[in-house]
Amino acid sequence: MDLRPDEISALIKEQIKHYDDTIESKDVGTVMTVGDGVSLVHGLDNAMLGELLLFPNDVYGMVMNLDEDSVGAVLLGSEGTIKEGDEVKRTGRIIEVPVGDELLGRVVNPLGQPIDGQGAIHSNKTRPIERVASGVMTRKSVDQPVQTGITSIDAIIPIGRGQRELIIGDRQTGKTAIAIDTILNQKDQNMYCIYVAIGQKNSTVAQIVEKLKQGGAMDYTVVVSASASELAPVQYIAPYAGCAMGEEWLEQGKDVLIVYDDLSKHAVAYRTVSLLLKRPPGREAYPGDVFYLHSRLLERACRLNEEHGGGSITALPIIETQAGDISAYIPTNVISITDGQIFLQQDLFNAGFRPAIDTGLSVSRVGSSAQIKAMKQVSGSLKLELAQFAEMQAFAQFGSDLDAATKATLDHGEKVREVLKQPQYSPRTVEEQVISLFALKYGMTRKIAVDKVTEFITQLYEDIQMNHPEYIEEITSQKVISNELESNLKETMKAFVEQFLKVNAEG
Ligand code: ATP
Ligand code: MG
Repeated sequence: MDLRPDEISALIKEQIKHYDDTIESKDVGTVMTVGDGVSLVHGLDNAMLGELLLFPNDVYGMVMNLDEDSVGAVLLGSEGTIKEGDEVKRTGRIIEVPVGDELLGRVVNPLGQPIDGQGAIHSNKTRPIERVASGVMTRKSVDQPVQTGITSIDAIIPIGRGQRELIIGDRQTGKTAIAIDTILNQKDQNMYCIYVAIGQKNSTVAQIVEKLKQGGAMDYTVVVSASASELAPVQYIAPYAGCAMGEEWLEQGKDVLIVYDDLSKHAVAYRTVSLLLKRPPGREAYPGDVFYLHSRLLERACRLNEEHGGGSITALPIIETQAGDISAYIPTNVISITDGQIFLQQDLFNAGFRPAIDTGLSVSRVGSSAQIKAMKQVSGSLKLELAQFAEMQAFAQFGSDLDAATKATLDHGEKVREVLKQPQYSPRTVEEQVISLFALKYGMTRKIAVDKVTEFITQLYEDIQMNHPEYIEEITSQKVISNELESNLKETMKAFVEQFLKVNAEG
């Protein structure tokens, strides 16, 4: 190490000069080193963890390390203009972002600055991005559904308001698609949505925003984007910034849905920051506190009780796996933090079963109490049926002469899978889901060929919509299938099956 007598003597002189000074002298420090987006600053004895520091030329930094005689800060702007010996001021604040309804329809960076070219955001309120999560006594259990509009999720892995449900899978398996479809389906459901994009391409984010606009979803959505080209510290704070925006609505008693796309890239950004700060690397070179990185974020999702306004934050974190390995470090961490996971399989995706949800590995640990009764009535046996189907399918590959019962199970399983297939951007209402699953449950699809099932279900629903809208209204208002409705539905459906078979036989 090269000693610099002039710098040392300057430092000593500085110390002597301010020996009797008030605290203020500890609020201004000097840059010791700067590089790779990280700066060591001397003389900020009172700096707080997470505090914002002001470097020259209005570049902000955030305190990440509190060492004995220096603080380590990450820079949130370009380091090009900062050099050794520069003055650094404390701000006494931790990072805050603007919050409130003014953000709806906007695309902002993690500091809350607009990046959509639509002018300034006139919000008069800000919130710190980090906050201690709501305590146990302020919470209540999840009892209201988040309708994703995706049949396989709403029927088999239901999500409740206030729940944390992980979406996990390899790259290009439709993870983002599920999150975006869920946001699109929140129209008129009294839900505020936040989509946090971390480390993604700007073009991908632009496409997503465009889709949300087309679907009218930007009216109730804010997009927070820290693209791959942003500095690692900016990517690191993105999910906390998004969460702070959600907490404002939470405290107003509103329901919020927040998507973190994705936390794998977030963990990588944090690893970069940690390594630059010379923190010791641990497993997979992640720092020791990487669990806390995500647990403190996801713990902020909650359902508040009535005394505290009754609002909720539902979190849908996304994790990308490598070759389906859910036992890697970050995936296991986040699986253990969340209340369930939606597991997407590359094989299913390639086989055309989309959304490629593996119903065997997916689970929702709290959601079923948040399903409407009618859905429970028709979806109870689905998971088992799919499991049986998968098992028998494996066997059926070996032998050709199967007994009638096995054939029936296989045939039914195939039809269940047909009904669960769903293209992107076409969410289904809960009534539509209930009717299609009802038809499955009571064997209406038995005589329909597998490749006609989708068509059959669509036409069946249209038929009921046209001729018996009162059935649909009853499900909407009563949320349960009464005995009377059950027999009515069966009768209508049977008649429709005959008609459908006749038309198709002719054609
Ligand atoms: P990445 O790992 O790159 O973030 P991802 O897992 O988020 O990918 P998506 O971008 O959501 O995956 O989807 C990958 C591709 O699959 C896209 O082209 C999308 O249009 C298509 N896709 C997703 N879901 C469906 C679906 N249900 N039906 C048909 N195509 C789909
Ligand atoms: Mg994606």
